[in-house]
Amino acid sequence: MNNQFQADDGTSDLDCTCAPISQVIKQRIQSNGKRYFANDNISEFVSQEERDLLVDEIQQKFQGVLESLVIDIDNDPNSHDTARRLAKMDVHEIMRGRYYPSPNVTAFPNEGDTAYDGMLVIRSELKSVCSHHHQPVTGVAYVGIIPNGKVIGLSKYTRIAQWCARRGTLQEELCTDIAQEIKKATGTENVAVHIGAEHGCCTNRGIMATSSLTQTTVLYGRFKEDPSTKKEFFDNIKLQQSAGGKGVY
Ligand SMILES: [Zn+2]
Repeated sequence: MNNQFQADDGTSDLDCTCAPISQVIKQRIQSNGKRYFANDNISEFVSQEERDLLVDEIQQKFQGVLESLVIDIDNDPNSHDTARRLAKMDVHEIMRGRYYPSPNVTAFPNEGDTAYDGMLVIRSELKSVCSHHHQPVTGVAYVGIIPNGKVIGLSKYTRIAQWCARRGTLQEELCTDIAQEIKKATGTENVAVHIGAEHGCCTNRGIMATSSLTQTTVLYGRFKEDPSTKKEFFDNIKLQQSAGGKGVY
């Protein structure tokens, strides 16, 4: 149990067993004046044990949905445990970036004569889910930075991008969220993020546009102010795409 949830008299807000755990968490967030949109991380308000309680609560709700879809969850062996699968998948996988804290990122000094003062461009594969339809979003984020005094491990760029993506998102918001987190982790203002992704809500339903692709870009610092830096970033993306990455992204 996280200490932040202990009241002055030593009791915790979980002592009230009458309210569903989602309500308890929601009240905690509201009393701290924080937002809890689909793309917000709320891990500071949810303990590890509470994640399991959330799965139990969500399972009950999914069971109700399946029943309303008139699916025989008692006798259909393929549907019998579906409610639990969906609940676990949402909390621990598809929306993991909402309920789990940010990845541990260690920064290393990048100073002196041997400091790297060029551009880094990292290609990060992404899986997300759109806030509107909860359909899969599959694509790639290209994260560009020009370091300022420190760098982080190469895999950490992708870990941060995936942590931001594992939520209900809009691609436009996701692009900005990744850039802000990379700025925080690296301490540089010189950050660019370009995402190319396919959206299940355009390919699986609605317009059924199977080859549709959405591209978004956010630029900060030198990437925004200096046209040659911006061009170098996009040239790097083209190089990566032609060098065997998934060309469509
Ligand atoms: Zn959608």
